[in-house]
Amino acid sequence: MRKITIAIDGYSSCGKSTMAKQLAKKLGYIYVDTGAMYRSVTLYALRRGLFAEDGTVDADTLKSEMGNISISFKVNAQTGQPDTYLNDELVEGEIRTLRVSNHVSPIAALPFVREAMVAKQRQMGLEKGVVMDGRDIGTTVFPDAELKIFVTASPEVRAQRRYDELKAKGADADYDAVLRNVQERDYIDTHREVSPLCKADDAVVLDNSEMTIEEQDQWLMKEYCRVCGNK
Ligand code: C5P
Repeated sequence: MRKITIAIDGYSSCGKSTMAKQLAKKLGYIYVDTGAMYRSVTLYALRRGLFAEDGTVDADTLKSEMGNISISFKVNAQTGQPDTYLNDELVEGEIRTLRVSNHVSPIAALPFVREAMVAKQRQMGLEKGVVMDGRDIGTTVFPDAELKIFVTASPEVRAQRRYDELKAKGADADYDAVLRNVQERDYIDTHREVSPLCKADDAVVLDNSEMTIEEQDQWLMKEYCRVCGNK
């Protein structure tokens, strides 16, 4: 069966990664979480103290240190899912904290960061058979992807999901703070100069505000079959 490239873009906390992971597993495809890559660069910058009090980044220093940042994914034998490594250190948990979420959008807006991440993402998807989720996959990374999905849900629904997720992990979460973070990231992601989040003209929209995971999985398989022509 021919392998295709599947690009899943959309707003924060839409459940993109859950759906992308499931789909990749079902199809035997590689899954790439591009948000994890921007989060890893952010963690590096936080650890290096490159953020000022007002949240601005010391971009010059980060730029000069980009060569020291190596991001990789290794499949976790227990979960069967890829874990994120920053310079060979497992950072899967740390990159998901609210602290990293609160700092990631300004990092992802830096052109030299995007350039480096996009080059790596294209390399990872070279052989097709990949499900990649992010913000600019269908528009910039793989504009020729055979299947492009743009996911959306209301900010309140997304904040509730992220809040429940944090709580389930035992984190000390505050719903209003999570909602503010979702709204701030939406704003920065859609307004930045380089590769802003927007729907590719040929992407299909999935609003999953009112959908169960099963309904969503069925919808995704239908779209995959529509493109690949196998029922
Ligand atoms: O998908 P996730 O919420 O983990 O992404 C974290 C952040 O990384 C996003 O808010 C966005 O600023 C940035 N991002 C991006 N382009 C991508 C993936 C993520 O700008 N392809």
